[in-house]
Amino acid sequence: MNLILLTEADFDTDNIATLSDRRFQHIHTVHKAQVGDTLKVGKLNGELGIAEVTAISGISVTLRTNCTQSPPDALPLTIVLALPRPKMLKRTLQSITSMGVKQIYLINAYKVDKSYWSSPVLDAESLQEQLMLGLEQCIDTQLPEIHLRKRFKPFVEDELPAIAAHTRALVAHPYNAASCPCAENTPTTLAVGPEGGFIQYEVDKLNEAGLTPMHIGPRILRVENAVPVLLARLFPI
Ligand code: SAH
Repeated sequence: MNLILLTEADFDTDNIATLSDRRFQHIHTVHKAQVGDTLKVGKLNGELGIAEVTAISGISVTLRTNCTQSPPDALPLTIVLALPRPKMLKRTLQSITSMGVKQIYLINAYKVDKSYWSSPVLDAESLQEQLMLGLEQCIDTQLPEIHLRKRFKPFVEDELPAIAAHTRALVAHPYNAASCPCAENTPTTLAVGPEGGFIQYEVDKLNEAGLTPMHIGPRILRVENAVPVLLARLFPI
């Protein structure tokens, strides 16, 4: 946890926050914080700054915050990700959040196992937990937006063309694809397939929506590895 991320509910007054959950445990056991120590903090969807420990006991810590610094710029990317299995989803959400992605569409595809859609990881609270872990890792406060799209065809036909319009629109696909374009800080839409890959029909529909197939080499990477490699290749990060 490189940042103590605070939500409105943590604040007793404008700048005094009291914590008694896993953030308190972290401050207590990892930072071994004492009264007077300062910690790096951020307000969810707000500014970054520092906080002074004004009281700490065996069950809670009180912080006086001073947050005036803007969070880092977002990556200009909308990622369209075929829903991975729950364990992979958690890791992927944390890692894409820590790379600055703010718009995430989780979509269905032929090779997405139906059971993944009923996973508790998709509950709003659980999704937010993964995003917050990513923000704490990368020292950012802006919560990404997640959009769930359980039907591939209506999403790709009715919504995706407008999302992709005027962006560098790509589908990561290892077969019959062009090589990855050069890194550029430009608005981008990127679709990434499920563990079994997109079927040809899906690649064709994504292509009709304006996304061009591209690859990152002959080796097939797992989704959780493919995504960071794709982002590092597409943006000067
Ligand atoms: N078994 C699948 C591979 C899926 S890998 C198949 O043979 O198609 C999961 C997803 O990661 C892919 O759909 C693609 O979006 C991305 N990916 C993995 N390796 C890639 C590569 N070398 N080039 C482009 N995309 C890749």
